[in-house]
Amino acid sequence: MIVLFIEKVMKEVLLYKLTWPEIQDYLRENDVILFPTGSTEQHGKHIAEDNDAFTALEVAKRVAEKTGVLVAPVMPFGYSPHHMHFPGTITLPFEVLVQVYKEVCKSLMKHGFNKIVIMNGHGGNSNAISETLRKLKEETGMTVYSLMVFPGGWVPEITNQTIETRGGHADEMETSVGLYLGQRILFEKGEKGVQPESYSELRRKYRGKITVASDFHETTISGSIGDPTYATYEKGKKIMEAGIEEIVKFIEDLKKIS
Ligand SMILES: [Zn+2]
Repeated sequence: MIVLFIEKVMKEVLLYKLTWPEIQDYLRENDVILFPTGSTEQHGKHIAEDNDAFTALEVAKRVAEKTGVLVAPVMPFGYSPHHMHFPGTITLPFEVLVQVYKEVCKSLMKHGFNKIVIMNGHGGNSNAISETLRKLKEETGMTVYSLMVFPGGWVPEITNQTIETRGGHADEMETSVGLYLGQRILFEKGEKGVQPESYSELRRKYRGKITVASDFHETTISGSIGDPTYATYEKGKKIMEAGIEEIVKFIEDLKKIS
Protein backbone atom coordinates (compact mmCIF):
# COMPACT_ATOMS: atom_id res chain seq x y z
CA MET A 1 0.00 0.00 0.00
CA ILE A 2 2.76 2.42 0.91
CA VAL A 3 4.57 1.78 -2.37
CA LEU A 4 1.35 2.35 -4.32
CA PHE A 5 0.71 5.56 -2.42
CA ILE A 6 4.19 6.93 -3.17
CA GLU A 7 3.84 6.01 -6.85
CA LYS A 8 0.54 7.87 -7.05
CA VAL A 9 1.87 10.96 -5.31
CA MET A 10 5.01 11.09 -7.39
CA LYS A 11 3.43 10.46 -10.79
CA GLU A 12 5.17 12.76 -13.23
CA VAL A 13 2.89 14.91 -15.38
CA LEU A 14 5.50 16.96 -17.23
CA LEU A 15 6.17 15.57 -20.71
CA TYR A 16 9.74 16.87 -20.66
CA LYS A 17 10.56 15.00 -17.45
CA LEU A 18 9.62 11.66 -18.98
CA THR A 19 11.66 9.37 -21.21
CA TRP A 20 10.44 8.41 -24.68
CA PRO A 21 9.39 4.88 -23.65
CA GLU A 22 7.32 6.39 -20.83
CA ILE A 23 5.67 8.75 -23.31
CA GLN A 24 5.04 5.83 -25.65
CA ASP A 25 3.30 3.99 -22.81
CA TYR A 26 1.17 7.04 -22.05
CA LEU A 27 0.10 7.32 -25.69
CA ARG A 28 -1.21 3.75 -25.68
CA GLU A 29 -3.94 4.83 -23.27
CA ASN A 30 -4.31 8.58 -23.58
CA ASP A 31 -3.89 11.19 -26.31
CA VAL A 32 -4.55 14.41 -24.38
CA ILE A 33 -1.82 16.97 -23.74
CA LEU A 34 -1.95 20.44 -22.20
CA PHE A 35 0.22 23.12 -23.81
CA PRO A 36 0.62 26.10 -21.45
CA THR A 37 1.39 29.49 -23.00
CA GLY A 38 2.02 32.83 -21.37
CA SER A 39 4.19 35.88 -21.71
CA THR A 40 7.16 37.65 -20.20
CA GLU A 41 5.88 41.15 -19.52
CA GLN A 42 5.53 43.80 -16.87
CA HIS A 43 2.94 43.10 -14.20
CA GLY A 44 2.78 46.33 -12.26
CA LYS A 45 5.25 47.17 -9.54
CA HIS A 46 4.54 44.04 -7.53
CA ILE A 47 4.20 40.86 -9.65
CA ALA A 48 7.09 39.04 -11.36
CA GLU A 49 7.24 39.39 -15.13
CA ASP A 50 6.72 35.68 -15.79
CA ASN A 51 3.26 35.75 -14.28
CA ASP A 52 1.20 34.70 -17.30
CA ALA A 53 3.58 31.83 -18.14
CA PHE A 54 3.81 30.86 -14.46
CA THR A 55 0.03 30.84 -14.04
CA ALA A 56 -0.53 28.82 -17.22
CA LEU A 57 2.01 26.19 -16.11
CA GLU A 58 0.78 26.03 -12.51
CA VAL A 59 -2.85 25.61 -13.55
CA ALA A 60 -1.88 23.03 -16.19
CA LYS A 61 0.10 21.05 -13.60
CA ARG A 62 -2.79 21.06 -11.12
CA VAL A 63 -5.28 20.00 -13.80
CA ALA A 64 -2.89 17.30 -15.03
CA GLU A 65 -2.42 15.89 -11.55
CA LYS A 66 -6.20 15.53 -11.17
CA THR A 67 -6.86 14.06 -14.63
CA GLY A 68 -3.72 12.03 -15.37
CA VAL A 69 -2.87 13.89 -18.60
CA LEU A 70 0.53 15.29 -19.60
CA VAL A 71 1.81 18.87 -19.80
CA ALA A 72 4.07 20.14 -22.60
CA PRO A 73 6.77 22.76 -21.85
CA VAL A 74 5.37 26.23 -21.22
CA MET A 75 5.83 28.83 -23.96
CA PRO A 76 7.29 31.77 -22.01
CA PHE A 77 7.06 34.42 -24.76
CA GLY A 78 3.86 35.89 -26.09
CA TYR A 79 2.46 38.86 -27.95
CA SER A 80 3.15 41.86 -25.71
CA PRO A 81 4.17 44.91 -27.79
CA HIS A 82 1.81 47.03 -25.68
CA HIS A 83 3.98 46.43 -22.59
CA MET A 84 7.33 47.26 -24.18
CA HIS A 85 7.67 50.67 -22.52
CA PHE A 86 8.20 48.93 -19.17
CA PRO A 87 11.60 47.27 -18.57
CA GLY A 88 11.89 43.52 -18.93
CA THR A 89 9.08 42.76 -21.37
CA ILE A 90 9.97 40.38 -24.21
CA THR A 91 7.61 40.09 -27.18
CA LEU A 92 7.43 38.12 -30.41
CA PRO A 93 5.94 39.22 -33.74
CA PHE A 94 2.40 37.92 -34.22
CA GLU A 95 3.31 35.71 -37.21
CA VAL A 96 6.30 34.17 -35.39
CA LEU A 97 4.13 33.33 -32.40
CA VAL A 98 1.51 31.65 -34.62
CA GLN A 99 4.28 29.70 -36.33
CA VAL A 100 5.74 28.52 -33.01
CA TYR A 101 2.33 27.47 -31.67
CA LYS A 102 1.64 25.62 -34.93
CA GLU A 103 4.97 23.79 -34.99
CA VAL A 104 4.68 22.72 -31.34
CA CYS A 105 1.17 21.38 -32.00
CA LYS A 106 2.25 19.62 -35.22
CA SER A 107 5.16 17.96 -33.39
CA LEU A 108 2.80 16.72 -30.69
CA MET A 109 0.29 15.50 -33.30
CA LYS A 110 2.99 13.54 -35.08
CA HIS A 111 3.55 11.50 -31.92
CA GLY A 112 -0.16 10.80 -31.50
CA PHE A 113 -1.34 13.57 -29.19
CA ASN A 114 -4.67 14.02 -30.97
CA LYS A 115 -6.25 16.20 -28.31
CA ILE A 116 -4.17 19.28 -27.63
CA VAL A 117 -5.42 21.93 -25.23
CA ILE A 118 -3.61 25.27 -25.37
CA MET A 119 -3.82 26.69 -21.85
CA ASN A 120 -3.39 30.42 -22.19
CA GLY A 121 -2.38 32.80 -19.40
CA HIS A 122 -2.15 36.02 -21.45
CA GLY A 123 -5.07 37.78 -23.11
CA GLY A 124 -2.71 39.36 -25.65
CA ASN A 125 -2.09 35.90 -27.15
CA SER A 126 -5.75 35.24 -27.91
CA ASN A 127 -5.76 36.41 -31.53
CA ALA A 128 -2.57 34.46 -32.31
CA ILE A 129 -4.08 31.34 -30.75
CA SER A 130 -7.31 31.73 -32.74
CA GLU A 131 -5.25 32.05 -35.91
CA THR A 132 -3.29 28.93 -34.91
CA LEU A 133 -6.44 26.88 -34.35
CA ARG A 134 -7.82 27.96 -37.72
CA LYS A 135 -4.57 27.24 -39.59
CA LEU A 136 -4.16 23.83 -37.94
CA LYS A 137 -7.72 22.88 -38.84
CA GLU A 138 -7.11 23.82 -42.45
CA GLU A 139 -3.66 22.23 -42.71
CA THR A 140 -4.16 19.06 -40.66
CA GLY A 141 -7.93 18.64 -40.29
CA MET A 142 -7.40 18.41 -36.51
CA THR A 143 -9.35 20.27 -33.86
CA VAL A 144 -7.12 21.90 -31.26
CA TYR A 145 -8.71 23.41 -28.15
CA SER A 146 -7.76 26.50 -26.22
CA LEU A 147 -8.87 27.98 -22.92
CA MET A 148 -7.95 30.81 -20.59
CA VAL A 149 -6.45 29.66 -17.30
CA PHE A 150 -7.69 32.75 -15.43
CA PRO A 151 -11.06 31.75 -14.04
CA GLY A 152 -13.25 34.67 -15.21
CA GLY A 153 -14.74 32.68 -18.08
CA TRP A 154 -15.05 29.47 -16.06
CA VAL A 155 -16.65 30.72 -12.85
CA PRO A 156 -17.94 34.26 -13.55
CA GLU A 157 -20.38 34.05 -10.63
CA ILE A 158 -17.55 33.45 -8.15
CA THR A 159 -15.16 35.92 -9.78
CA ASN A 160 -17.83 38.62 -9.76
CA GLN A 161 -18.70 38.02 -6.12
CA THR A 162 -15.17 37.81 -4.89
CA ILE A 163 -13.53 40.67 -6.70
CA GLU A 164 -14.41 44.12 -5.46
CA THR A 165 -12.81 46.14 -8.22
CA ARG A 166 -12.94 45.65 -11.96
CA GLY A 167 -9.48 45.62 -13.39
CA GLY A 168 -7.70 43.82 -16.13
CA HIS A 169 -4.00 43.54 -15.46
CA ALA A 170 -1.90 42.94 -12.35
CA ASP A 171 -5.13 43.76 -10.53
CA GLU A 172 -7.01 42.36 -7.55
CA MET A 173 -7.89 39.09 -9.30
CA GLU A 174 -4.48 38.45 -10.85
CA THR A 175 -2.66 39.31 -7.63
CA SER A 176 -4.98 37.11 -5.55
CA VAL A 177 -4.39 34.22 -7.95
CA GLY A 178 -0.64 34.79 -7.79
CA LEU A 179 -0.67 34.81 -3.98
CA TYR A 180 -2.49 31.47 -4.02
CA LEU A 181 -0.32 29.83 -6.68
CA GLY A 182 2.94 30.90 -5.01
CA GLN A 183 4.11 33.59 -7.43
CA ARG A 184 6.80 36.08 -6.35
CA ILE A 185 4.72 39.08 -5.28
CA LEU A 186 5.97 42.21 -3.54
CA PHE A 187 2.54 42.93 -2.15
CA GLU A 188 3.39 46.21 -0.44
CA LYS A 189 4.64 47.64 -3.77
CA GLY A 190 1.30 47.08 -5.52
CA GLU A 191 -0.40 50.27 -6.71
CA LYS A 192 -3.79 51.01 -8.14
CA GLY A 193 -3.62 51.73 -11.87
CA VAL A 194 -3.93 55.47 -12.40
CA GLN A 195 -4.26 56.99 -15.84
CA PRO A 196 -1.53 59.45 -16.78
CA GLU A 197 -2.58 63.04 -17.39
CA SER A 198 -1.87 62.58 -21.07
CA TYR A 199 -4.75 60.10 -21.37
CA SER A 200 -6.98 61.61 -24.03
CA GLU A 201 -10.38 63.14 -23.27
CA LEU A 202 -11.79 61.56 -26.41
CA ARG A 203 -10.87 58.08 -25.25
CA ARG A 204 -12.14 58.74 -21.74
CA LYS A 205 -15.45 59.91 -23.18
CA TYR A 206 -15.94 56.91 -25.48
CA ARG A 207 -14.40 54.25 -23.25
CA GLY A 208 -15.84 50.81 -23.96
CA LYS A 209 -17.35 51.98 -27.26
CA ILE A 210 -14.32 52.55 -29.46
CA THR A 211 -11.17 50.49 -29.91
CA VAL A 212 -7.65 51.78 -30.57
CA ALA A 213 -4.23 50.13 -30.45
CA SER A 214 -3.17 51.17 -26.98
CA ASP A 215 0.10 50.90 -25.07
CA PHE A 216 0.03 50.28 -21.35
CA HIS A 217 2.12 53.31 -20.43
CA GLU A 218 -0.53 55.51 -22.08
CA THR A 219 -3.18 53.98 -19.85
CA THR A 220 -1.55 53.35 -16.46
CA ILE A 221 1.39 54.78 -14.56
CA SER A 222 2.12 51.75 -12.34
CA GLY A 223 1.52 49.13 -15.04
CA SER A 224 -1.55 47.77 -13.22
CA ILE A 225 -5.06 48.24 -14.50
CA GLY A 226 -7.36 47.84 -11.50
CA ASP A 227 -6.47 47.82 -7.83
CA PRO A 228 -4.17 45.06 -6.55
CA THR A 229 -4.30 46.30 -2.95
CA TYR A 230 -7.60 44.42 -2.45
CA ALA A 231 -5.96 41.09 -3.27
CA THR A 232 -5.81 38.25 -0.74
CA TYR A 233 -4.61 34.66 -0.74
CA GLU A 234 -8.10 33.48 0.28
CA LYS A 235 -9.75 35.10 -2.75
CA GLY A 236 -7.18 33.53 -5.01
CA LYS A 237 -7.75 30.14 -3.45
CA LYS A 238 -11.52 30.37 -3.76
CA ILE A 239 -11.59 31.40 -7.41
CA MET A 240 -8.72 29.18 -8.59
CA GLU A 241 -10.01 26.04 -6.91
CA ALA A 242 -13.40 26.64 -8.54
CA GLY A 243 -11.80 27.44 -11.91
CA ILE A 244 -9.54 24.39 -11.84
CA GLU A 245 -12.49 22.17 -10.96
CA GLU A 246 -14.31 23.38 -14.10
CA ILE A 247 -11.27 22.86 -16.32
CA VAL A 248 -10.87 19.35 -14.89
CA LYS A 249 -14.48 18.59 -15.93
CA PHE A 250 -13.69 19.72 -19.47
CA ILE A 251 -10.57 17.53 -19.65
CA GLU A 252 -12.48 14.50 -18.34
CA ASP A 253 -15.15 15.05 -21.03
CA LEU A 254 -12.44 15.51 -23.66
CA LYS A 255 -10.80 12.22 -22.65
CA LYS A 256 -14.05 10.39 -23.30
CA ILE A 257 -14.61 11.47 -26.92
CA SER A 258 -13.01 9.44 -29.68
ZN1 LIG B 1 -0.90 38.67 -16.55
